[in-house]
Amino acid sequence: THFGFSNVRLTDKQRLVDDVFHKVAGRYDLMNDLMSAGLHRAWKDALISTLRPPRHRPFHHLDVAGGTGDVAFRVSDAGGPDTKVTVLDINGEMLAVGRDRAAARHAHDIEFVQGNAESLPFPDRSFDAYTIAFGIRNVPRIELALKEAHRVLKRGGRFLCLEFSRVDVPVLDAIYDAYSFNVIPTMGRMVTGDGEPYRYLVESIRKFPNARTFAGMIEEAGFVRVTARPMTGGIVALHSGWKI
Ligand code: SAM
Repeated sequence: THFGFSNVRLTDKQRLVDDVFHKVAGRYDLMNDLMSAGLHRAWKDALISTLRPPRHRPFHHLDVAGGTGDVAFRVSDAGGPDTKVTVLDINGEMLAVGRDRAAARHAHDIEFVQGNAESLPFPDRSFDAYTIAFGIRNVPRIELALKEAHRVLKRGGRFLCLEFSRVDVPVLDAIYDAYSFNVIPTMGRMVTGDGEPYRYLVESIRKFPNARTFAGMIEEAGFVRVTARPMTGGIVALHSGWKI
């Protein structure tokens, strides 16, 4: 079967996304490693070294669409004793996996909050930095999410977004296409019993704006000094912006 995801309404889109992560929550971290061949670790390392959480002053970090806490644990490890991390995700199952992992690691500096990136349950100017990794393409109204990111950041706060982008290297693009349209749904079906969520995943990557367009959207939301850094031939891009 093939779903025409392209024409779904916004509320339906969020429901589809929720179904996907509801189904895969327990196996999410394993699937990440399998499908990116471990590359997501290098991409997240690049995110953390760009963020460089301060070690000697209080730092309150917000990781949106934080799922199972992968980015949050890295921020917490890189930061100092006064680093606090808030993980926000719309999906209770993903957060439950994250909470369990945090408990197992005795990580008491991480809180998990269920909520929507489009309407964050935090006051203005609450956070020193905001990250969103492989999450923003799932949000139906990206402009709203960006505006909310800007609202909850303190002045001088940083926005960082890691997301799939457009491969711009000949040959790699063909390999990447074959990989994403065939290998990813097949792997998804083998591990979780259902390939459909992964077809959705691949389609959502295709529809996400290219790095330059996305940078423009970040500026539109009020951020300055916006930059885009492609990684791994453009499979992923790291966007950065500042609130002043
Ligand atoms: N950031 C994690 C990582 O890099 O491993 C998880 C990324 S996962 C691909 C995408 C996450 O976005 C899911 O946990 C999903 O529940 C969450 N999500 C989808 N729509 C959302 C929304 N509107 N607001 C907040 N989180 C959302």
